[in-house]
Amino acid sequence: MSRSVEIARGLESVKARIQTAAIKAGREPDEITLVVVTKTFPISDVEILKELGVKDFGENRDGDAAPKAGAVPGTWHFQGQIQSNKLKSICAWAHVIHSLDDLRHFKLIAQFARHPLEIFLQCNLDGREDRGGASIHSLYPLAQMISADPVHRLAGLMAVAPLALAPEKAFAELQGIHMAFMKDFPDATGLSAGMSGDFEIAISYGATHLRIGSQIMGSR
Ligand SMILES: *Cc1c(COP(=O)(O)O)cnc(C)c1O
Repeated sequence: MSRSVEIARGLESVKARIQTAAIKAGREPDEITLVVVTKTFPISDVEILKELGVKDFGENRDGDAAPKAGAVPGTWHFQGQIQSNKLKSICAWAHVIHSLDDLRHFKLIAQFARHPLEIFLQCNLDGREDRGGASIHSLYPLAQMISADPVHRLAGLMAVAPLALAPEKAFAELQGIHMAFMKDFPDATGLSAGMSGDFEIAISYGATHLRIGSQIMGSR
């Protein structure tokens, strides 16, 4: 099987599953954005996705992402752990950042970015700092700072389901946090949750942005 047939099959099957899960949850499939995670895959694969109509691409590492984003036009999402010394470059190629969890990083974004960015705040659902994400109460000062900024937009919240927690529990908790958060930040309607192994569950708990790699691209 050629690589483009392989990717096309993966993409069609994931899209069909998103459609089914959305309908089952009583939601409009159109309100869900599929971000295809191309990390570790070559530019040629990104070009195949582009030809198949994919517009949103997700990456975790600045060094891998910058050349891909330079080669293939689209909406580029950064979802990896942020390192201060990479932010200037990330701001040059990314349109959406899913993994902001530190005020200092937002200050650097405000300083470096030459175009408006959409920003999701990453929440920590298990109290472990090592996997990234802000604690629930530190989300609010961060959100206030972004929503007061005239250039960048607070898009919503993001989380990765912790390994130690069933995804149902993790995403139910995340949905509750997001509902409460939207009382203070009503425009932050985005909820970035759901990966290859758990995206249908994320859809049932209100995810608006799915970040899916291996289920479309194959294993890394
Ligand atoms: C790698 C990654 C994904 C995609 O993971 P798959 O399991 O390949 O779908 C999504 N979100 C984040 C934060 C990731 O690091």
